[in-house]
Amino acid sequence: MDFQLSDEQRLIQQTARQFAKKKIYPCSAEHDEQAKWPAEIHKQAWELGLMNVTVPEEYGGPGLGCLENVLVTEQLCWGCVGIGAGIMLNALPTEVLLIGANREQKKTCLGRLVAGEYAAYAVTEPCAGSDVAGIQTRAVKRGNEYLLNGSKVWISNANHASFFTILAKTDPDAGHRGMSFFLVDRDLPGLEVGNPIPKLGQKAGFSAEVFLNDVVVPESALIGQAGDGFKIAMQAFDGSRPMVAGFALGLMQRCIDLSLEYALERKTFGVPIIEHQAIAHKIAEMQMRMEASRLMTYQAAWLADQDKRNTLQASCAKAFACDAVMWVATETMQVYGGYGYSKEYPVEKLFRDAKVLQVYEGTSEIQRNIIARELAGR
Ligand SMILES: Cc1cc2nc3c(=O)[nH]c(=O)nc-3n(C[C@H](O)[C@H](O)[C@H](O)COP(=O)(O)OP(=O)(O)OC[C@H]3O[C@@H](n4cnc5c(N)ncnc54)[C@H](O)[C@@H]3O)c2cc1C
Repeated sequence: MDFQLSDEQRLIQQTARQFAKKKIYPCSAEHDEQAKWPAEIHKQAWELGLMNVTVPEEYGGPGLGCLENVLVTEQLCWGCVGIGAGIMLNALPTEVLLIGANREQKKTCLGRLVAGEYAAYAVTEPCAGSDVAGIQTRAVKRGNEYLLNGSKVWISNANHASFFTILAKTDPDAGHRGMSFFLVDRDLPGLEVGNPIPKLGQKAGFSAEVFLNDVVVPESALIGQAGDGFKIAMQAFDGSRPMVAGFALGLMQRCIDLSLEYALERKTFGVPIIEHQAIAHKIAEMQMRMEASRLMTYQAAWLADQDKRNTLQASCAKAFACDAVMWVATETMQVYGGYGYSKEYPVEKLFRDAKVLQVYEGTSEIQRNIIARELAGR
């Protein structure tokens, strides 16, 4: 067993760390307050090669793995998880394409991402999030075309995406086996994207509704075979959940840095508050939870890179890290006392940013269902 990162991994980690320190961190508060899309930061991240890191070399990307994707994610999200997540989210449609698409689709679509475009992963609907098989968007075959109708909600990066990987029902009577993914261009007639949905945190990242009203796509827009959609969606999670755990790692490290800084400086009863065991133990516990989260996350990512099944480890990492970050952010506010509650200090933002990590990419409850199912061998 080797816990050392390679020279190449350390280099990309340091590049991301420097970028987060210099470009993301200084303007994270402003983007949060104004719910402003950080276009210039995205452009610079793309120029530095920090976007689309998992796109294989044959399609124009750097061809790095899930672990490198996590390393970059963690650093960018230390700067701001709203901005960092937005930069990394092309990884979701990329995962769908790598699993299910044919060579021509990969060449075209991954090439577009590498050239600077965005894509969005559209599964959730107003009536169905956790219950993926409960979606109602329909794709009806008509000759050599499909007609799509329905609506999606909470689709991250939808406002900037030039195409979508959309899950729809092709055979409503076939349950899990009746769903299929489609590549859908944003400018097709009948496709509309709503305004960014106002939200509690991660405000520099946008999510929106996507409406499909008699959208016609050619048969060649089908990803994989008709009926493969559910399988592709579940497999894509095995690659993307370590990345979302990486969002939590970055945010946790930022909380710990701030807690430590404040606890060393703030005095009560004549001593820095870190001298009070209750505060010191809080910070120690934060570090313990972060170390455990990091090991689980790197292991889940490493397994993915070895082409080994990692469903159990990806869910463990996602649930553990995302629950841990909510606890760590809450305790960071406590370390700050009343100032933790103030908009003039950075920690209330971290608290707001943390919450959704227990929800998207499969809630903490759903991760536990998956873990139990994996253990039971079902
Ligand atoms: C900011 C943000 C960004 C997002 N980005 C995307 C995106 O890019 N693409 C996309 O497709 N989706 C996206 N989502 C949607 C997200 O994946 C869903 O919100 C999530 O899966 C939960 O679904 P839901 O909101 O419908 O909650 P529900 O499924 O209705 O769940 C409600 C509650 O019930 C619990 N619950 C439900 N079923 C069970 C069960 N069987 N056992 C135990 N508990 C259960 C849940 O854990 C939750 O606590 C995003 C969401 C947010 C908030």
